[in-house]
Amino acid sequence: MASYPPIIDDAERQRLEQVVKDWTIANGLAVRPPVPVTSAVASTEAELAPTLAMPVPVTLFPSAFPKSCFEEAQSLLSAYNKLYMNISNDEEFLGQIVAEVAGGDEFTAKLWEVHQRVKKDGYVQKHSLGIFRSDYLVHQETTADGKPHLQIKQVEFNTIAASFGGLSERTSKLHKFLAATEFPLLQSPQASYDLPHNESSRELGASIQDAFEVYSRTEPSTNGFPRCVIILTQDGERNVFDQRHIEYAVDAPVFRVPFSEALQHTTVADNPKRELLYHHLGRTTFEVAVVYMRCGYDPSDYPTETAWEARYQVERSNAIKCPTVLTQVAGCKKVQQVLATPFTPSDDPNEKSVLTRFVDSSDEAGLRRTFTNIFPLDNSPSGLEARKLALDPVACRKFVLKPQREGGGNNYYKDKIPAHLATVPEEHWASYILMELIEPPPVSNLILRNGQVEQGGVICELGIYSTCIWAGKDSLRNESAGYLLRTKGDQSEEGGVAAGFGSMDSVNLV
Ligand code: ADP
Ligand code: MG
Ligand code: MG
Repeated sequence: MASYPPIIDDAERQRLEQVVKDWTIANGLAVRPPVPVTSAVASTEAELAPTLAMPVPVTLFPSAFPKSCFEEAQSLLSAYNKLYMNISNDEEFLGQIVAEVAGGDEFTAKLWEVHQRVKKDGYVQKHSLGIFRSDYLVHQETTADGKPHLQIKQVEFNTIAASFGGLSERTSKLHKFLAATEFPLLQSPQASYDLPHNESSRELGASIQDAFEVYSRTEPSTNGFPRCVIILTQDGERNVFDQRHIEYAVDAPVFRVPFSEALQHTTVADNPKRELLYHHLGRTTFEVAVVYMRCGYDPSDYPTETAWEARYQVERSNAIKCPTVLTQVAGCKKVQQVLATPFTPSDDPNEKSVLTRFVDSSDEAGLRRTFTNIFPLDNSPSGLEARKLALDPVACRKFVLKPQREGGGNNYYKDKIPAHLATVPEEHWASYILMELIEPPPVSNLILRNGQVEQGGVICELGIYSTCIWAGKDSLRNESAGYLLRTKGDQSEEGGVAAGFGSMDSVNLV
């Protein structure tokens, strides 16, 4: 491909910026502006903030992305769904995982407590809804015969509150719109745009709809209340429109309930069925068929014991959860590490890998190709080896250290690893994993952020959405749900769009 993205002059850039600014607001490719810190001057702004929208950071061009890698990621989503449905079903395995990290990780220990309390009560809902996103970076490998080979490597697998599916569909549409209108008029037009179909918000909405219908079919009404979906949200959420796009794609009553107010607005029926009841404005009662969580993954979502009671209430109810506590735990980084370890720590060649416990042999090689080296930091032989790498001032530069956290901003990179470990008591190191850094080939783009264009080297992270519904071994749904491309400047270690480093993007397959 000739120079990509095409070289543009100032006038062209300004024109593109304006077109993008208008399109983003007109089509809801937007977030709420931050609420300014209160001062006399800012108070009107503070009042206005909850009514305003601003464009989300977005690239001016779809980033060049290797077609073979995109197709490989798509081809694996069904196997990844099966893998994580099976892991969620395996309470004994998850219990072992929790036991390994709980010493240094109170949050995971608390989550597990919720599961154990509900287990004692007896779970009443056997169906679960999974809305997953498997995240990848492209890694350039050299094959045995010395040829370069591009291979997707998994960054992580998200099983709770996987975001940006609402905005991602719009980003694909924005780039398709520009490719049809603006790009051909540039002085050095880029001739070929291969922009794949992406209906992430519609398809994520369809999965919630499907779960709603499963509930309607399998749970005969005993109370005559209409049924609804609730989205549990974080306080001060700015990424509202992303969530709204998914909500608007569901053909059922959907209500947003702040997780901090869940106990005020919901109750569990005092009968063996334990329906979750939502009391709308204190007037109209609905029976909740599906709870879609866009919260609950960060310790700050649980500032007091009351929040843990709210999670317990949801978990013990009859609503179909997205996700259950077990599915949330299945998505922790320790599980990813254990799967990526070819053999159990005994290194007995006759012992099967953990992955084979959960997937058919026909799926195993494909999944494993996407794994990069991930090590435990426990007392096992490989854990002790990994501790040496993590503490070595040179060797540590090849790694990222991850705790069992979600939502960005929690990892330690390269030189910061030994310094961080020095602050953690050694008996708690097992709650971290040590992951080899994936090094993507250089890509270039222009990012429009807060009205300014940043131009230069970028790193693109592909997220593949997938959805599933299951009840034990019985799988009722296993579907793709579009993709996400998040792009960050190549000098930034973390790429969260909400955290302010990343931007929305879409793929131009090459
Ligand atoms: P979170 O659950 O908080 O999103 P991630 O594991 O996705 O945690 O890490 C956050 C970001 O850090 C990723 O989006 C990616 O930009 C970067 N990152 C994580 N792991 C790696 C890795 N192995 N190689 C390169 N970058 C990584
Ligand atoms: Mg995550
Ligand atoms: Mg991530």
